[in-house]
Amino acid sequence: ARELPGYARRVLDALEDAGHEAWVVGGWVRDALLGVSGHDVDVTTRAPWPEAARVLRAANITVHETGTAHGTVTAVVDGMTVETTTYRVEGGYSDRRHPDEVRFVDDVRADLARRDFTVNAMAFHPARGLLDPYGGRADLAARVIRAVGSPRRRFEEDALRVLRAVRFACRLDATIEPATQEALVACAGELDDIAQERIGQELDGILATGRAAWALRHEFAVLEAALPELAPLAGFDQRSPYHAYDVLEHTARVCAGAEEFAGGLPTRALRWAALLHDVAKPACWSVDDSGRGHFFDHPRQGARTLRAVMGRMALPTEVTRAAAALVELHDLPVSATSVSVRSMLAELERRASGQARPLAFALLDLKRADAVAKAPAFRSYATELDEVGAALRSALAAGPVYRVRDLAVGGEDVLHACGIEPGPRVGMVLEQLFAAVMAGELPNDRATLLAQMRW
Ligand code: ATP
Ligand code: MG
Repeated sequence: ARELPGYARRVLDALEDAGHEAWVVGGWVRDALLGVSGHDVDVTTRAPWPEAARVLRAANITVHETGTAHGTVTAVVDGMTVETTTYRVEGGYSDRRHPDEVRFVDDVRADLARRDFTVNAMAFHPARGLLDPYGGRADLAARVIRAVGSPRRRFEEDALRVLRAVRFACRLDATIEPATQEALVACAGELDDIAQERIGQELDGILATGRAAWALRHEFAVLEAALPELAPLAGFDQRSPYHAYDVLEHTARVCAGAEEFAGGLPTRALRWAALLHDVAKPACWSVDDSGRGHFFDHPRQGARTLRAVMGRMALPTEVTRAAAALVELHDLPVSATSVSVRSMLAELERRASGQARPLAFALLDLKRADAVAKAPAFRSYATELDEVGAALRSALAAGPVYRVRDLAVGGEDVLHACGIEPGPRVGMVLEQLFAAVMAGELPNDRATLLAQMRW
């Protein structure tokens, strides 16, 4: 295992020197066995929390009483925080959300038994080594997610674990053990009882692993239970000779493509947009009088659905706004000209003010991913979009105009040049100039614009 950081060692030692058994537990142990460093350290101890707080303070460690109802205090050492929790088990879960009661216990094994998956149910102490009663180390090595104890009972206790299983499978590139998988599918419907905000956090976590494509292909029953708007995607034919896959498989490919084209660093907004870019396609299919079918207005409807979903899940408004802009504009035609890239920036700016520059690159990544996910032949379109990217970079380097305030003239100039009073007319003059500059009819040149100004 990795070396335990010194600040965490101080917390363990303070507790143990006072005669209280203490272990590092959960995510740090799991990641250390994988050779991944940087996970926050959680400590579990036999000491009741008031005693843990007293002992830590006596060792000159700052303590915040952050979650004492669950036995948790937060120790701060060298600016690093260590959550320190008394060994506990959870009582009944009559509402399938919150344990009815927390019971403190004095055996660390009982504390490990309440944890969700074997890979998360290991404890470590630098002197005593690894405590691994459920075979978490072997499961980790084999990349298997397995519930601790009866999977069915564990998911019935807390349905959020259904989504956590998928998140950890994505994160660890693992498979889900068959009995756990069976219980997962049987209990997915219980996600109805879970607060939308917690579902949103888990979905966001799944997207952040970069393996949403795997989840869509292998755990769709769970995703669909968490986000019912996804349901119509499965088996919905694209009704197009250019599409080789149904909307669900296409979506999985777009999620994978977003990772590929964004070089493994897609933004949160791009990931949400990839997941939901075609969400309204099935609902928007309509056949006109001549018998021809169209997906009427589906990007705009999709953006609307995305806002509803991310809104009820209380995801950050900035991310939601950005993701909605990407979905709404994902079919926007773009070409490698200054006018085209500036109008793309303007469209993004209108929907997600202040985010146009980063979003423009995300939009190209989404468009590339969308193109290559239609059918293999669309690879060449991705190359065209590389040229758009180059045009975008040179436009940005030249100081592009995509907002009225980027114009080389401002409101003061209008007042002087047109001799009008302050008011809405000033904005209208500027809008006209802006439209002309955006259309490439006028250069963004101060003298030229002043000469053109009239009311
Ligand atoms: P991450 O890096 O995602 O935070 P983590 O392992 O730290 O991974 P947390 O959600 O922070 O995961 O929880 C810390 C530990 O608490 C887990 O490793 C697990 O042992 C336990 N745990 C958390 N949530 C649950 C739950 N819903 N049911 C059972 N055990 C849980
Ligand atoms: Mg954690």
